[in-house]
Amino acid sequence: MSKDYREMWSGLDMNLEAHNGLLGVLTDAYKNIYLSQKNRPEGMKYFDFVISEVHGLRIEEIVEAKKQGRKIIGTFCVYVPEELILAVDGVCIGLCAGADVGADEAEKYIPRNTCALIKAFMGFKLAGLCPYIQTTDLIVGETTCDGKKKAYELFDEMTNGKMYVMDIPNTKSDDGKALWQNEVKRFSKKLESLSGKKITLEKLKEASKIVNDKRKALQRLSLLRSNDPSPISGLDALLINQVVFYDDPLRFTAKVNELCDELDQRVKSGAGAASKGSPRILVSGSPMAIPNWKLHAITEGSGATIVGEESCVGERNFRSLLDDNFSSLEDAMQKIADRYMKINCACFTPNNERLSDIEDLAGRLKADGIIHYAIQFCTPYMMEAYKVKKVADAMKVPFLRIETDYSMEDMGQLKTRVEAFLEMIGKGVRV
Ligand code: SF4
Ligand code: SF4
Repeated sequence: MSKDYREMWSGLDMNLEAHNGLLGVLTDAYKNIYLSQKNRPEGMKYFDFVISEVHGLRIEEIVEAKKQGRKIIGTFCVYVPEELILAVDGVCIGLCAGADVGADEAEKYIPRNTCALIKAFMGFKLAGLCPYIQTTDLIVGETTCDGKKKAYELFDEMTNGKMYVMDIPNTKSDDGKALWQNEVKRFSKKLESLSGKKITLEKLKEASKIVNDKRKALQRLSLLRSNDPSPISGLDALLINQVVFYDDPLRFTAKVNELCDELDQRVKSGAGAASKGSPRILVSGSPMAIPNWKLHAITEGSGATIVGEESCVGERNFRSLLDDNFSSLEDAMQKIADRYMKINCACFTPNNERLSDIEDLAGRLKADGIIHYAIQFCTPYMMEAYKVKKVADAMKVPFLRIETDYSMEDMGQLKTRVEAFLEMIGKGVRV
């Protein structure tokens, strides 16, 4: 941290002692996992800085934005249209958490067999550890998986009524799409009344350009990873895909593009994160919220390179651009609804489009293996693993299914399984 932020954190009603402990653990983990990597691009220095200030400078910026009257909107899902938030000059912040924190506290409210992501966002709040939650004016939930939608009822109590829930259909039928279009409009009205600002066509066009530019930068990064060797490690790319939920969008896009310019040069010179020909792995499944780096650290620590994430912290977040050629506000709302309906989350049934996405991605990234990652008790993704395996089998790409939580207890066991998987890939054996 560049300075002492204790006064700001106290003002946000945080538990300073526990927070200090958390920062110590995170700093050590970051040093061990990230800063120990060899041959990192220079452009990663910006993202290292962002992480070092993730509860410092960025929170200061958000507090300042709030003082200027901007509304801070917390979200948990890539289904929440960021364009609408930016169109009322709001600040959009992801609140999903990826650390094993406050689970005991959370388990007083929710069953033990709830996924770690839900336990963590609740745990962070209950333990007074998340400055982002504290700064929010509105927290947007969504009716995706059962765990989340029930947890939001309790989270509403914990946050003194800050929750607003978007109704996301279970299917992409015509009725489902009609429901979603209404939800997009209802959300825009909510934002207008919260901020006291009207969403105009001009503001929406501006906001859509900002979000599309961010998606384009991430698409560019994703494409660069299809080179052999990949010019960037999976760990570093994962970090960027996590930071996108926190950082200022314009600055983030500029920094990702700067990094991609450097990666272009690395591709030309043949420089990579690992040596050419090392196994290339596509990870697919549940989102990995910051600081969930476990699977990437194990896999890359075992000599492979992760070349893509078919995940909401990854491709699902930026895969489709918004057609922002709006002719009217009504047309804009329709196009926004259509764009978000293209996200292929396992909460939908059926969800065959996700399988095509995985097939495309594995082909484009020249994946030698697919690791299906599900957070323990994440029923939607655990269930879909069966179908993903069938896709991998049809492509003759080796497949490994992992279910884990945020604890470090199974690190040894996971490492053994991943190493065995990579060994089989190396020998050309299918598993
Ligand atoms: S996995 Fe589903 S519920 Fe989770 S962020 Fe993605 S779209 Fe939303
Ligand atoms: S990881 Fe799975 S169970 Fe957990 S909130 Fe996301 S979709 Fe729901």
